[in-house]
Parts: sequence; structure tokens; C-alpha cells
Amino acid sequence: MKDFRYFMPTEIFYGKNIVKNKAELIESFGKRAFVITGKSSSKKNGSLEDVINVLKEKNVDYYIFDEVEENPSLETVEKAAQIGREKDVDYIIGIGGGSPIDTSKAVGIMLKNKEAEIENLFTEPKLESIPIIAIPTTAGTGTEVTPYAIFTDHRVKTKRNFYQKVFPKVAFLDAKYLMTAPESVTINTAIDALSHLIEGYLTTKANFLSDAVAEKGIKIFGECIEAMKNRDFTYEIREKLLLMSTLGGMVITQTGTSLPHGMGYSLTYFKGIPHGRANGLLLKAYLELCHDKKKVNNILTLINLNSLNEFGCFLQEILGRKESINKEEMNEYAEVIINNKAKLKNHPDKVTKEDIFNIYKKSL
Ligand code: NAP
Ligand code: ZN
Repeated sequence: MKDFRYFMPTEIFYGKNIVKNKAELIESFGKRAFVITGKSSSKKNGSLEDVINVLKEKNVDYYIFDEVEENPSLETVEKAAQIGREKDVDYIIGIGGGSPIDTSKAVGIMLKNKEAEIENLFTEPKLESIPIIAIPTTAGTGTEVTPYAIFTDHRVKTKRNFYQKVFPKVAFLDAKYLMTAPESVTINTAIDALSHLIEGYLTTKANFLSDAVAEKGIKIFGECIEAMKNRDFTYEIREKLLLMSTLGGMVITQTGTSLPHGMGYSLTYFKGIPHGRANGLLLKAYLELCHDKKKVNNILTLINLNSLNEFGCFLQEILGRKESINKEEMNEYAEVIINNKAKLKNHPDKVTKEDIFNIYKKSL
């Protein structure tokens, strides 16, 4: 077996009403909290209210930034950081999907390093963050346990990870916050988590422990397939999806992601296709390209499907009608990924621009 390291410093608490039950822990982070969230969902699903109740009960001063958009921009990070600096906050509570939690991580760096400029997120890998508490309300990105944060960068016309590594200190997982997620968000985010598990399982950096976690996550996804087809998202199914998503985050923390994520960023940037859906559209053709047939078959066995065609039919059923993309666009996007050495390095086999083009062509 090859040597490996497994690092997961985020303390994870799972349970119904966990935020309320961990009020002392939240209080221990300081006297001024900065709550960073999206525009509306955290007000509807109860997560923001739970957090505010704890902060009020513990007499913690708090400020709310509720302007994080999907696929957050660096401009949003800058705006939130300016407010956080003015208020001199001690820590951040990021509530929402990947977008607000990723924003929290970058703002955390800007607050810890008062002289830092937004550009330094991509030039200074060693910068640290003030403490982050992450409360996910989607089951997809796993960002509550990863060190990554992804931003839309208009200068390079794609999305990219910042250079630092910021693990949230604490992740609070409560499936009740997911109950308001609409079908489309639930499906897209679940497919994002599945992509993390699958890509992580098949990367060059996969190891004994990351594989154990990935296999467990993929199996849990398999238990949700019928519910996904029937759009029947009960509390029990949401619990499974949430845990699967956190397992996906634990996997990519060790392994990174590879081709579907790298290729999906162009679909999101140029076509506005949601992140998880973008990965999902590409997954079957990507698996067809993968040479490690033993692992590909393991994936199918774990989700209880007999063939990649069956897997493709399932994805088609839940993702619905595909977007159309012309050949010039596919060529342009293939060029982007072929220049993304980090993603290519994670894929165990040599891939050409033609391979990438063919994945787009087969998928869209
Ligand atoms: P998101 O962009 O955070 O949110 C998508 C939509 O879902 C928003 O409209 C949001 O509304 C809504 N929403 C969130 N929770 C909801 C709930 N409980 N009920 C109803 N609506 C809800 O989506 P995401 O897929 O979780 O995050 C995607 C981002 O994460 C992308 O930028 C992606 O690149 C990144 N990502 C990061 C990592 C990582 O490790 N850091 C990994 C994978 C992906 P509001 O705006 O009103 O909140
Ligand atoms: Zn993802």
C-alpha cells in the first residue's frame, strides 16, 4: 500500500438543534461575531434565527452581511471584509451553501491580515484566517470541512480556488436547515457531493483512508437514488445527503478534484449552469474515459447500478434537458482545462485536448 497522510482539523458536530446546544462553544470564540450569509435562504430555513438567538443569549455583539451571491465574486469578499475590519470582529459564522461559507474563509483572511489586499488571496499562500464556524444549509460542497474557497474571477474568466488553506474550526451539521431547499438546489448540490466522492476516489492522490470515506459516501448516495428520482426529500433523506456531502468534503480535502470540476467551471462561468449540475452533466463521459475500471465498477456496485449506461440514465432523469453548447465553445473550454495543470495532474491517465473535447461533446 502506498504511504499516506490524512488531515482533518475541523471539529464536526452533528445533530438536530446543534447550534442551540453548542451555545457555549460559539461564545468561546469571542465577543464580536461576523455572520456571513446569502440573500434570503438562511432567513427562511431557521439557521440565521438559531444563530442570532445564541448570540443574543450570550451577549455577543454581532453584525450580519447577507449579500453573498451564488458563485461569489472577489468584489463581494472585498465589501464584506471592509465591514468586518470596521467592526473589528473576532470570528466569522458562515451560514448557507458553499458560496457564503467560501466567502467567510476569504474574508477571514482579510480580517486576520489587516494590510492584505484582495489580490493577496492569489499570491500569498501562507496567510491565515480568523476562526470560522461553518453551518451548511445545502448538502453538496462539503466546504464546512475543506480548506478551499472558490471565487469567480472575471480577469481569468473562470472560477478559481484561493491560495490559502482555511479549515473552519467548527462545522455544525443540522439537516433541518435543508428542508426548505427546492428540488433543483437539492439535486444539483447532491450531484456536486457525488462528484467530490467519485473524483476524489479516482484521483492520483486517493489513499487508503480517503477511499474508505469515499466508498461510504458513495454508498449513502446509492441509498438516496430512489428518493431523488421521486423527488421525495424527507428529513431522513436530507440527513443522508448532508452526511454524504461532508464525507465528500473530507475526501477532496485529501485528494482535490479533477476533470469534471475543472471542466464544469467553464460551464458555470460562460453558461451560468449551477456548479453541481455542471459536474453531473460531465460525470458519465468522464467515467467512460477513466482507465481504472475496477474502481469504476466499485462505484457502480456501491450505488447499486449495473452499468455506466444505467448511471447515465439516472443522471439524465434527475438533471432533465441538457443545455446546448456549440463546437467552438467546447473547443474554447477544452483549451481552458488543458491549461489547468493542477486538475490534469490529479487525473491518473494522460489526457489530450481531444479527450476533453470528447467529454464535452458526449455530455452536451
Ligand atoms: P450556493 O451558491 O451557496 O447557493 C445556491 C442557492 O441555494 C442560493 O440561491 C441559496 O440562497 C440557496 N440555498 C442555500 N441553502 C438553502 C436552503 N436550505 N433552502 C433554500 N435555498 C437554499 O450553492 P452551493 O452549491 O452550496 O455552493 C456552490 C459554491 O460552492 C460554488 O461557488 C462552488 O464553486 C463552491 N464549492 C466550494 C467547495 C469548497 O470546498 N470550498 C467545494 C465545491 C464547491 P441564498 O443565496 O438566499 O442563500
Ligand atoms: Zn464541487
